[in-house]
Amino acid sequence: MDSLKARALLTEHRHYRYRGCAPVPASVADFPGQALGDPQLHIDAWGTVDRPDDDPEPQKKRIARERTAIAVCEACPVLAACRVYANSETPDGHLAEPDGIWGGQRSLDRHRALIKRRQADTTRPPAAVLAEARTDQKQALLAALARETDEELVAYRAGMDVRTANWHRSLLCGLLGLDKDTASREELLGAARRFGVLPERVRIRPDGRWPIAAAPNGDGSRQRRIAPGMPQQIVISGFQHMPRGRRPSPIPAEALAAARRSPCGPRLRLVVARPEQLPLPLPVAASIVLESAA
Ligand code: SF4
Repeated sequence: MDSLKARALLTEHRHYRYRGCAPVPASVADFPGQALGDPQLHIDAWGTVDRPDDDPEPQKKRIARERTAIAVCEACPVLAACRVYANSETPDGHLAEPDGIWGGQRSLDRHRALIKRRQADTTRPPAAVLAEARTDQKQALLAALARETDEELVAYRAGMDVRTANWHRSLLCGLLGLDKDTASREELLGAARRFGVLPERVRIRPDGRWPIAAAPNGDGSRQRRIAPGMPQQIVISGFQHMPRGRRPSPIPAEALAAARRSPCGPRLRLVVARPEQLPLPLPVAASIVLESAA
């Protein structure tokens, strides 16, 4: 679970204020920082306060302190939510709470459990590879890809040109262990989310009726491999994208109805946004949308 969401679930728990490691209100506390779960304990017993390197805590004292704190955790009303939060992972792959006792578990035990989880997941790329997928540009690209399904809008939102955006999409497929020739957009975003590269709070906009290529190439062959036999939208680079939403169709209603009744349906849709900017003469009138059945 996303660490921010897990933290919200913990702090918004209706019993959060009664947690064992909460400080007793100053007006009734016997000493500042007295822990609610045990009147003899200070809240520092959970070990979240840094100690100077030249003054390490004696081992016996540490073990006794940890045992007492864990005993309080075991009776804590928010134990489960606390454990989920502390063991959740941040977008850069670290434990949400790397230090101290949380949810009745020591930091060392929680790190060991994290390593075990990662070893059990054989499909998970190594940490160094995932770090490459977390560069600012790739994060921007993933956030844009989650929001948009059109390659030009993805590039626009990510703040780069279409070619660079598609190059990053191809690289991300490789980094996350996907085949860039057959991976769909949803598979790429799903892998990014599974490996903690894309935060869970980022909403993924659905593709629509047909899966979209994770990294399209110029002639559309990659899209054909992903969604064989389905209509393709050919996007001409350098053109402004058509406005979204419903537009009046320039094709007569009867012709449209006939095309929809056709057993194979439309096979190709060509969208021309600004024909006057085409480098070559275009054999169609301006602002025309063609739909043809192959
Ligand atoms: S489970 Fe332990 S660390 Fe977590 S809130 Fe309760 S007392 Fe504090």
